[in-house]
Amino acid sequence: MKFRGGYNILLQGKPDRLIEELPESETLYLPLRSRRFEFSELRVKDGQRVNGGGVLARDPKNYSVPLLAPRAGIVQLNAAKGHIVLEDISKTEFAYTERGELGHIVRQMGEAGIKRYKLLELGAWQYFCDAFTGVLPDPLGTAQAVIVSTVSLEPFVARGDVQLQEKLLDFTRGLEHLQSLLEYQPMYLVMPDISSDFAAQVRQQIRGHARAELIEIPLKYPYDNSNILARHLGLKKDDNSIWFVRTEGVIAIDRALTLSKPCLSRIVSLAGPAVDLPIHMKVIPGYPIETIRARCISNDPVRMLNGGILTGVPVEPETLGLDTECTGLTVLAEHGERELFGFARPGWDRSCYAGCYLSSLRTKFSERFTTAMRGEGRPCVSCNFCEEVCPAGIMPYLLHKYLYGDLIEGVEEARVDLCVECGLCSFVCPSKIELREQFIEAKRLIEQEKEEMRQEQLKQEQLRLAEEARREAAQEAEY
Ligand code: SF4
Ligand code: SF4
Repeated sequence: MKFRGGYNILLQGKPDRLIEELPESETLYLPLRSRRFEFSELRVKDGQRVNGGGVLARDPKNYSVPLLAPRAGIVQLNAAKGHIVLEDISKTEFAYTERGELGHIVRQMGEAGIKRYKLLELGAWQYFCDAFTGVLPDPLGTAQAVIVSTVSLEPFVARGDVQLQEKLLDFTRGLEHLQSLLEYQPMYLVMPDISSDFAAQVRQQIRGHARAELIEIPLKYPYDNSNILARHLGLKKDDNSIWFVRTEGVIAIDRALTLSKPCLSRIVSLAGPAVDLPIHMKVIPGYPIETIRARCISNDPVRMLNGGILTGVPVEPETLGLDTECTGLTVLAEHGERELFGFARPGWDRSCYAGCYLSSLRTKFSERFTTAMRGEGRPCVSCNFCEEVCPAGIMPYLLHKYLYGDLIEGVEEARVDLCVECGLCSFVCPSKIELREQFIEAKRLIEQEKEEMRQEQLKQEQLRLAEEARREAAQEAEY
């Protein structure tokens, strides 16, 4: 599939390439929930002392993926709702013991199985997802193919080039480790199609190491999306998932398999128009959000998103620390009041996809974006902008109209399943229609209905079999 649609959003608040290591915190607040995981199976007791890398909890619905203690400390289970709090922090790390509980894996999968288990236990497997569904793949399952992306295009999640700059060697080794987990399956390495010195250095470094096919993509959002990349490569959904992992995941693989060390820190961006000094930060999960806020954000009211500007979700006031999947905090100024006579301004300093402000006469510039809506939500005006930018080749306005009329069959026929939830349609829509949210909800409802139908069919089948068995038993009794 050729790339189509896409759009680059230019906003103020882009972080530069420097990585700042934040000072250690005295207390960590580890959320028991993140985007994909729910660590409901606690493995520690209140008041227990744990070492850094020790398992605090597991997610039973996701192959028991662990929540690791980023530092040694004393566990407080009741200090903050929905969190494990670690106090009295120090840097003592636990020692990973090879082949601890691995009997069955050794028999089933040999060395590759041991490595995969190690990735799971040391926190590196969390960086993987299935390219089509976004869920965590089975660490002991068979991959159809692997896509490694060095590109992260959504403003303002942590960028791949920033993560790579000091870790090129680790990345190359990580690729080799990743290769060793596979048998014959192809591995694709996604790079930007630019000719910067750094890009040339990366290409030079990886040449001759892991056998990965290089895929160069234009730097246009959301061409780095795992789903779009898989379709671009002509891969199809089947029983074997397509593993997708970004730069930080490959570096984590190297740490786990070369050093046998847990992956405890990550690079997170702190960016957006309301951040005084946008940066990339090296932090650990559980790091207090309040400390980050006090350090880098002025006292004005702001809205903080966990993730990028298009797909991030608001950080709730009750969330006290960074979760294990956070790749960026995007901060916007919160506007409670409407601009006086805003409608009469010619728009020299603001831009829109329609190019209807005076700013379209300027050369491209980064806009200072806030949470204020410019105008009220209104019905679709059939401008077609959403279809122009949609990378999935579907018609968002049509889906919206079907949803508005409760025509769920039409929604399915218009292929809502192809939506990759990039949020571009919502961003460009001049009528401020929350298209992305509507499609996510529609997909959820369709899946739920299908599941209910599957369950009903299963129940009918079981009843039919039970009835047959009863009749046979009755006939036998008659004879
Ligand atoms: S319909 Fe889905 S894939 Fe298309 S632009 Fe909207 S969110 Fe992105
Ligand atoms: S961008 Fe908004 S107003 Fe324009 S066609 Fe799409 S849904 Fe309608």
